[in-house]
Amino acid sequence: MKILAITNQKGGVGKTTTAVNLAAALGAAGQRVLLIDMDPQGNATTGAGITKKEALPTVYQLLIGAAGLQEVCIATEFAFDILPANRELAGAEVELIELERREFRLKEALAEGRASYDFVLIDCPPALNMLTVNALVAADLVLIPMQCEYYALEGLSDLVETLRKIRHSLNARLEIEGLLRTMYNSQSTLTQQVSSELENYFGDKVYQTIVPRNVRLAEAPSYGKPVNAFDKNSKGAQAYNALAQEILERVSA
Ligand code: ATP
Ligand code: MG
Repeated sequence: MKILAITNQKGGVGKTTTAVNLAAALGAAGQRVLLIDMDPQGNATTGAGITKKEALPTVYQLLIGAAGLQEVCIATEFAFDILPANRELAGAEVELIELERREFRLKEALAEGRASYDFVLIDCPPALNMLTVNALVAADLVLIPMQCEYYALEGLSDLVETLRKIRHSLNARLEIEGLLRTMYNSQSTLTQQVSSELENYFGDKVYQTIVPRNVRLAEAPSYGKPVNAFDKNSKGAQAYNALAQEILERVSA
């Protein structure tokens, strides 16, 4: 089992879109996948077609120890399971401070699921908070979605520094799996410049797969569907299928 945290403290870069669509693409490729919504915004939960009523208990109860993995886990209609979240998770931020081994709550809660999944994907909130720390401590690998725009590289150095700290203190095996260029606009000179700087700096850590700006990716969540169930021939669906294949090749290499 590989645990991938999908993270970037910058908001709106495509974390949730990547989490939901990669979960669906890996699931369609026959992998056993668990998606974890670690964001109180609950966007991965609704994007996977889970309504507020179904989503109880949530990751919040899991983290504070009020529910176990089996109780929180829901099978979606799309070849992956989910641990859902809602606004209540915002409270965990404060409550975790009081708890023992507060950085290890997610890791320890996942232990019993080890044998059941090939991939666990964690959708992180846009912050380097205790929820993200729990994700980075539980994870083996980090997938960083980013938009190729002016400030993107600056934010990336903060993230790389955070990962370095986590590696030294809480999770020595944490590695960057890859950097994913999202919402890519090949017409823009700036995008191309940032993209090639990224390649210079991170080399083959940058996925060959590029996710283009594609309206179907933005529309699918409002139908509670991953893009491969909404419009499987769209450029967005093709990109996430290609990403799933690229990741499968990387982890088996
Ligand atoms: P947050 O930091 O708030 O959690 P996020 O990093 O999870 O945001 P998303 O929610 O995935 O980002 O994407 C932000 C917005 O951009 C959403 O409205 C989403 O539908 C849209 N979007 C994401 N990727 C694409 C794409 N490749 N093409 C078009 N729209 C996209
Ligand atoms: Mg999100």
